[in-house]
Amino acid sequence: MTEQMIPAAHPIIGDEEIEAVGAVLRSGMLAQGPQVAAFEEEFAAALTPGAEAVAVNSGTSALHLGLLAAGIGPGDEVIVPSFTFAATANAVAITGAAPVFADIDPETFCLSPQAAEAAITPRTAAVMPVHLYGHPADMTAFSRIAQRHGLALFEDAAQAHGASLGGRRVGTFGVFGAFSLYPTKNMTAGEGGMVTTSDAGLARRVRLLRNQGMERRYANELVGLNNRMTDIHAAIGRVQLAKLPAWTERRRANAAFLDRAIREGLTQSGLPASGPESVVVVPPVAAGAGHVYHQYTIRVNGASGEQRDRFAEALREQWQVGSGVFYPIPNHRLPSLASFAPGLDLPETERAAREVVSLPVHPALSRDDLERVARAVTACARDRAEGHA
Ligand SMILES: *Cc1c(COP(=O)(O)O)cnc(C)c1O
Repeated sequence: MTEQMIPAAHPIIGDEEIEAVGAVLRSGMLAQGPQVAAFEEEFAAALTPGAEAVAVNSGTSALHLGLLAAGIGPGDEVIVPSFTFAATANAVAITGAAPVFADIDPETFCLSPQAAEAAITPRTAAVMPVHLYGHPADMTAFSRIAQRHGLALFEDAAQAHGASLGGRRVGTFGVFGAFSLYPTKNMTAGEGGMVTTSDAGLARRVRLLRNQGMERRYANELVGLNNRMTDIHAAIGRVQLAKLPAWTERRRANAAFLDRAIREGLTQSGLPASGPESVVVVPPVAAGAGHVYHQYTIRVNGASGEQRDRFAEALREQWQVGSGVFYPIPNHRLPSLASFAPGLDLPETERAAREVVSLPVHPALSRDDLERVARAVTACARDRAEGHA
């Protein structure tokens, strides 16, 4: 076949972003300045109404400074999922606190409220669910648990710009939310992050921490870092923010197409399209959830990690369909983090790590692309059901 590879992710940069960067460069004011201030206002108004946003240089910095500003440090435990990008637990560990890993809900791939509650100890200071793949974690349950046990609730919203639960936006449930603006996320600033919070004191501490602890020059109030966003990055982010609603609609429409086409393809091949016998499971959406499909993640049901990798390889080799595996090694088994979780067993995390494949769902896909993705998944599912793979 000579078809072009459909990439798993595709950052979209237009002339508007290039012009906005050019204008900042021509202005001669490159560091944190008016573009950052405007981006913060616009980001909060668009994505976390009622909260304020503080811009930093990455999503990891947003988590790190949010945790520091909330007073997390040595002696504290913060409950996090293991099935996430390492930044979640890294940000906790770098404060001197201990990440405590709990299992996920097999439907949403997000931290399980029951598992999190069972992991509470006298040292637990906070719970930090991740809105994984753009699906909101069960914040209603987490708010109740946090209240019942006197814990702080934080949100890793790095993958979930605009996601909601019961009509309320992620990044507004917790003491703070942390967003990433890395190029593969639903919107980008090149690199960058945002801390969102409705706690004015916490927002101010993040502003201090990102700038050597200073509000006024040489009047350092706290020990801080340089985690500032530049006006160059903010200018890109402002343009992208304006494009985000249309992109989110495209992601949702693409996901709806894949849901339908993959189910139909399985049914037409005589394979179960739902239930425990399904060869491939399309991503379920919880009641009241506004999913923004940072990833469209299927399960290759019952697969070993090797079988899943062969499934992804067949998508690529036979159909020129790119895909991603997020995440093949759970955090609690990474050499860098395993010491926090001796002997820990997280069965749903392990199963997800073996079974997941994320298909292209980004806004740059054409109708033909989407049809090829669905045909490819159906064909590979048929091969797997017939025992060829
Ligand atoms: C991307 C990501 C981060 C980190 O964001 P960066 O901007 O890459 O530092 C944190 N948590 C999750 C879940 C992510 O996907």
